[in-house]
Amino acid sequence: MVAGAAGPYLDGLAERPVHDRSQDTLLDELGGPLPERGDGAVAAVEHLVRLGTQAATHSSGPRCFHFVVGGATPAAMAGDWTTSLLDQGAGLWVLSPLATKAETVVLGWLKELFGLPASFGGVLTPSATLAHVTGLACARYWWADQYGVDVTSRGLAGLPPMPVFSSGLVHVSTRKALQILGCGRDTVRTFAKDDAGRLDLAAMDAELARVDGRAVIVANLGDVNTGDSDPIPELADLAERHGAWLHVDGAFGVFAALSPRTAHLAAGLERADSVTADGHKWLNVPYESGFSFVRDPELMTRTFGAWGAAYLPDEDDERINYNTLGPESSRRARALPIWATLRAYGRDGYRAMVERHLDVSLHLGDLVEKAPDLELLAPVRLCVVCFRYRPDGVPEERLNELNARLGEALLADGRVFAGTSTYRGMTVFRPAPLNWRTTKADVELLVDVLRELGAPMTG
Ligand SMILES: *Cc1c(COP(=O)(O)O)cnc(C)c1O
Repeated sequence: MVAGAAGPYLDGLAERPVHDRSQDTLLDELGGPLPERGDGAVAAVEHLVRLGTQAATHSSGPRCFHFVVGGATPAAMAGDWTTSLLDQGAGLWVLSPLATKAETVVLGWLKELFGLPASFGGVLTPSATLAHVTGLACARYWWADQYGVDVTSRGLAGLPPMPVFSSGLVHVSTRKALQILGCGRDTVRTFAKDDAGRLDLAAMDAELARVDGRAVIVANLGDVNTGDSDPIPELADLAERHGAWLHVDGAFGVFAALSPRTAHLAAGLERADSVTADGHKWLNVPYESGFSFVRDPELMTRTFGAWGAAYLPDEDDERINYNTLGPESSRRARALPIWATLRAYGRDGYRAMVERHLDVSLHLGDLVEKAPDLELLAPVRLCVVCFRYRPDGVPEERLNELNARLGEALLADGRVFAGTSTYRGMTVFRPAPLNWRTTKADVELLVDVLRELGAPMTG
């Protein structure tokens, strides 16, 4: 039944709006009391599929440019269904040699794809936020160890706050991870030389000297407002010189490594101590999919293994218990959709997809520059295009309110989704085209719809 509904649903994704608010009334059908006597499996699933295919946000279609939303390639989706079919417990080798082996294989493939040394440790996580928790927990262990404290057994009590330094590009999820780890979200200090948040390297350098290098540097590879990145080689030099930890947030930006056109942005990634990336963004596998890579695999087992013991499998030992390398215990076999999609399309397929998104983004940038009532606010470097609506005759002080209102209207209209953000004090649109189905026609529609909805607002 689900398989039967899938074909027409997926085939129709390109035509339907991203969201049709008139269908939201269906959400009431989800409610009601807990049934005493159930409806039976067929009736329950039929109901769910009918209301789901109508009321869902069709964000895996080609025109959801809000936040940073990927999609699911056909192979990834089928791999995900297989994960549910087989229902593996992927935390322990003994429970699933299949899931364990698949995880080891895909982590190896991903390291190759991103240009990371094979010697790095890795673990699949539900998201980039949890990959931050994984990498930064290892950083926290390393940092506390310099004070002679085993933080896994003693905790942080008695230690000073752990200094975390970044540029103004730092993502909120880094702060959230630090907050979860008991380090506190406000320990992040940003060093920015302008209101776009670009790194002030000299200021960070001076502060690193002051704290004797006992600090964590967070480099951002692909920020969510403009796709801008910190200079990783310079930050790696800084980390090396001061003996600091270098963590890279490459949630989607790490895919820059796939194309010769953008690979320079990811140069130096191999010098990081920990790297965060997402699968449910540019890899186009279904939610929930993230990866954490850590230079020193032993630190992962010290941080997450039982009793703080380092459990180090031999390099060719396949009996890895992935629940000793990350924050989860029981977990699903999230390697399977990744395996299926990488096996299906290969490095070439992904390079072609990334380059198509670079072209689509540049095309959108061109359209914005040519439109008299749109203003491009940052160069298009990756797969994010930052601009605002700026028709003639509207004074600067009214533009933020106008763009916020236009953002609301765009989501209510539903044909194309893009969200607003704040960049250098301006309310802006920052669509991110990274769904495998997206073509130039989809971003052309975004421009048309925005101008169509904006025109009556200023009349
Ligand atoms: C999306 C994103 C995150 C958080 O990822 P989740 O998978 O939503 O937890 C972190 N950093 C950047 C740059 C992102 O784009």
